[in-house]
Amino acid sequence: MQCIDAVVAGAGIWGCTVARRLAEAGKRVLVVDRRPVVGGNVRCETDAETGIEIHLYGSHIFHTHIPEVWDFVNRFVKFNGYQHKVLARYRGKTYFLPLGLALLNKFFGVELTPGEVAEFMKDEAHSSAVFDAFFRGYTSKQWGRAPEEIDPSIIKRVPVRSNYDTNYFNDYNQGIPLTGYNSLFDRLLDHPSISVKLSCELRLDAGVFKIGGDVLPAVPVYYSGPLDALFGYRFGHLPWRSLRFETEWMDVPDYQGTSVVNYTEAEVPYTRIHEFKHYHPENRSVMEARRTVVMREYPCDWKPGDEPYYPIDCEESRALLARYREAAAGVSGLVVGGRLGGYRYFDMDRSVEAALTLPL
Ligand code: UDP
Repeated sequence: MQCIDAVVAGAGIWGCTVARRLAEAGKRVLVVDRRPVVGGNVRCETDAETGIEIHLYGSHIFHTHIPEVWDFVNRFVKFNGYQHKVLARYRGKTYFLPLGLALLNKFFGVELTPGEVAEFMKDEAHSSAVFDAFFRGYTSKQWGRAPEEIDPSIIKRVPVRSNYDTNYFNDYNQGIPLTGYNSLFDRLLDHPSISVKLSCELRLDAGVFKIGGDVLPAVPVYYSGPLDALFGYRFGHLPWRSLRFETEWMDVPDYQGTSVVNYTEAEVPYTRIHEFKHYHPENRSVMEARRTVVMREYPCDWKPGDEPYYPIDCEESRALLARYREAAAGVSGLVVGGRLGGYRYFDMDRSVEAALTLPL
C-alpha cells in the first residue's frame, strides 16, 4: 500500500468533498469505492444516441441556500440555472406542486387570492381533500406505510405557499452541472494528492481496516457506506426503503413536457416518471432529439443486496442506529458521514455542508 495519510471509503458527494478538503490540507488521500465508478447515487450516464444525461438512481437537482456550499461546488462545475418544477397527476388531471394557488384553484375550481388561502385551508373538508389527493397515496407508496406512521418532517419537505410560485424548492441557488454530474466528481477528485481505487470494499476485520487483503496503516478512515455493513450486520439490518427503476426510450421528442410528474394515486404502482432531457434546456441538440428517455420509479422494501435509498426513521431503527453509532465511536480513527453512513435523509447540499464543516 502506497504512503497515505487518510482513507475515504465511499466516493459519493460527502466522501469526494472530504477527500478534496483533505488533499487541499496537504494530506495524501486514498479514495475507495465498491462500485467501478465514482459519484455514488448521483451517478449519471449519457445516452449515446440522444445525448440525454440519465440519472441512474433517480433525479438529482442541486439546490441550496447555503452560500459556502454553493461557492464550493461552483469551484468545480458551473450550473445551468435549471429551476425545478414538479407536477402531480391525479385522476387524469395534472397540477403544479407544491401546495399553492395554482394547485388549489385548479383542484377546487375556485379563484383564491393569497390572503384567502389560510382561511380556506382551515376548513377540514378542504385540507383533507388536498391531503388525500396529493399526499396520502403517494406517501403510502413511497414509504410502504400510512402517512400517519411516518415522521411529519418528511412530508414537510414539500413547501406550502399561498402564492403562484411553483418552484419545488425554496432554495434560490439551483441547477444541474452544465458538464454533467459525473464531471463534478471527476474534478473533485482531480488532485495530485488523491488516488482512487474502484471495485474494492473497505472491511473492518476484528478492529483492523482492510482493503482487499491489505491491512491499512493506522490513518483516519472517512466512511460513507452503510454503517451496519461495516460491522457485518452484527446487531441486525438497519431498515431502508429501496427503489426500482424502469427506463424506457420513447419515439417522441417530448413525452410529458417536464422533468418530473408525480402520480399521487395509490392505484398507480409507481410514484413518479422522470424525463431527463428537461434538465438541460440549454442543450438544443438534446432538447430537439427525436427520442426521449423516461424512467418510472417504483418504491419497494429493502432486502440485503438491494440499494439502500431512504432511511426509515422509527423506534426500532433509532435503537439499532444508536448501537451501531456506539460501536463506530469505539473504532479509533473512524469518521462516519453521508446519507448512508449517517443514516440520514440528506439532500446533496447537506452532505456537502457536513463534509465542509467536519473537523479534520
Ligand atoms: N410527497 C407526497 N406527494 C408528492 C410529493 C411528496 O406525498 O407528490 C411526500 C412523500 O411522503 C415524500 C415526501 O413528501 O416522501 C418528500 O417528498 P420529496 O419530493 O422531497 O421526496 P424525494 O424527492 O426526496 O424522494
